[in-house]
Amino acid sequence: MASLPHASGKDKAKALRQRIDASLDGLAQAVDDVRASETFRQFLDVQARFHKYSWHNTLLICMQRPDATQVAGYRTWQKLGRQVCKGEGGIMIFAPCPWKREKETDTGETETEQGIYFKAVHVFDVGQTDGPDLPTVDVPTVDARADDLLANLIRVAESRGIAVNFRPISSGPFGASKHGSIDVDNSHATGQQAKTLSHELAHEALHWEDRGPFTRSLAELEAESVAYVVCLHFGLNTEVRSSRYIALWDGDSKALRASLECIANTARDIIDDVEVPDARKAVA
Ligand SMILES: [Zn+2]
Repeated sequence: MASLPHASGKDKAKALRQRIDASLDGLAQAVDDVRASETFRQFLDVQARFHKYSWHNTLLICMQRPDATQVAGYRTWQKLGRQVCKGEGGIMIFAPCPWKREKETDTGETETEQGIYFKAVHVFDVGQTDGPDLPTVDVPTVDARADDLLANLIRVAESRGIAVNFRPISSGPFGASKHGSIDVDNSHATGQQAKTLSHELAHEALHWEDRGPFTRSLAELEAESVAYVVCLHFGLNTEVRSSRYIALWDGDSKALRASLECIANTARDIIDDVEVPDARKAVA
């Protein structure tokens, strides 16, 4: 029985949604596998030993050593198996020291007085220490080529009024979403660039609108999941990178499923936009 064009469009949409849901299921499982792995547990274990410094101390660290990445006291470094190198000057911060003392009142009773004073202490950046590397979670770049997908994604960005700037980015993330423009690091394979561009397109679509408060972790989980679904749809599998990236941003399968609708809809919009010219070709 020949189906009406309208019905076939509906069927196509339904099939696409099923495919998206299946890939998101796979991703959710992969993220949980990363979180359950021994490497990830060791990484979290070490991260937990780094003190979360106050805003004030963070500024002090940044002023004295702008390139500091991981900072800890002399003894903490020793416990982590690393030694502060000879001749390295410490970074001065203020450590809160609570105090307490017993005091006798006029009536002869004992009263406890307490307060906090701040004492200057010195901490050291990982670059000032020597020893075995700390456990990390490697987030490999995508090294496959995807020239066609990249070209199509650039066209999608342009059709949405978003300018894409390709440039080498020396450190930090491979791209940036700037509300109306996107930066993509072009020093990687076109597969990685396509992954980055779909990630930033998702940020552009989802994270500049006023939708109430959300965390950076959630924004990264959503953007990376959209990128994963879009890339996989066009034959580029980014599971290793995407699952580790999401786990490092503290995402898990529960958070992914809670955002499923928003991820699936955003991915479908991008996939549809990429496929538009093919549809036109088919009609012509
Ligand atoms: Zn991002």
